[in-house]
Amino acid sequence: MRALVVRGRGATPAVEEVRLPDPGPGELRVRIRAAGICHSDLAMVDGTVAPAYPLVLGHEATGVVAEAGPGTRLAVGTPVVLNWAPACRACWHCRHGEPWLCTANTGASVARGETADGGPLQVTLGLGALAEEVVVPERAAIEVPAGLPPEQAALLGCAVLTGTGAVRNTARVNPGESVAVIGLGGVGLAVLTAARRAGAAPILAVDVAEAKRDLALAAGATDFLHSDDTLAKEVRARTEGRGVDHAFECVGRSVTIRAAWRATRRGGAVTVVGMGAKDDLLSLSALDIFHSARTLRSSVYGSSDPDREVPELAVALADGSLDLAPLVSGAIPLDEAPAALDRLARGEGARWVVTFPD
Ligand SMILES: [Zn+2]
Ligand SMILES: [Zn+2]
Repeated sequence: MRALVVRGRGATPAVEEVRLPDPGPGELRVRIRAAGICHSDLAMVDGTVAPAYPLVLGHEATGVVAEAGPGTRLAVGTPVVLNWAPACRACWHCRHGEPWLCTANTGASVARGETADGGPLQVTLGLGALAEEVVVPERAAIEVPAGLPPEQAALLGCAVLTGTGAVRNTARVNPGESVAVIGLGGVGLAVLTAARRAGAAPILAVDVAEAKRDLALAAGATDFLHSDDTLAKEVRARTEGRGVDHAFECVGRSVTIRAAWRATRRGGAVTVVGMGAKDDLLSLSALDIFHSARTLRSSVYGSSDPDREVPELAVALADGSLDLAPLVSGAIPLDEAPAALDRLARGEGARWVVTFPD
């Protein structure tokens, strides 16, 4: 089968023929219908995280069970959304209501299958979903209703779960609270959508790219602000001089975390959703931390339980109360995925989604 493979750190990803094993006990083969291209895929290529190579990219996808290994529950033909952090339900975090911090998660890359010449192959986050098929443990597949638009359903497994969970579970945004969102990629746009659904106002969308303005307003923002030195002032002008109740940093850089901090009111909360680099240090004064009374925290996978929350989001998508169309820049064939990764690196568009013929 065909998959998007990166051969080493900094190499250009290309579509290759690869082989996956048959599903073993407790495993499924899933035929992919649609798979999003996420910033974390760029992190796998540029070495921000340290996976093993050659590596099949992709971790945000929907598909249909094509073959069920011994001892599995889901039947062939079941529509599923893939979960890149399936919870073991046995470790300390799982037993204490924090399945998103499950210690059984296996890291950036997992060995599975082989390249066309018989060499070892890795898959991203245990999935490798920018491919015609995946073979995964059954707990990495979450059943969803049939008939969802595949290019929107794919986003439920990463960008939308992350963005929605950051608003609902981590920050617990209440109706009428003010929100700023810095960085308008797929996750940032999903945060805007979730903030709108939570009844927040105003919802200030912030990005360096003016081209994100229309996307932001379509996704749920009330205002678009250009990210520059005047940001904190612009935010205060729209929040009676205080700053927002909640700022969401969706870039993963110290400079934007600091901008989020400065845009937040005294006693407000900054939620870091972006994944940054380990050598990018954030500096805040001890006096500022005390006097501002702000909270700074991160949101990993939306502090969510995907087994419960992905089906809820899927129902909202099916009944029309959740509209993810503004998050999808376009559906493209697998061969165009390398070019879409370049566009993502340049900050162009929202989510590019690879779709496969039915
Ligand atoms: Zn992702
Ligand atoms: Zn666990």
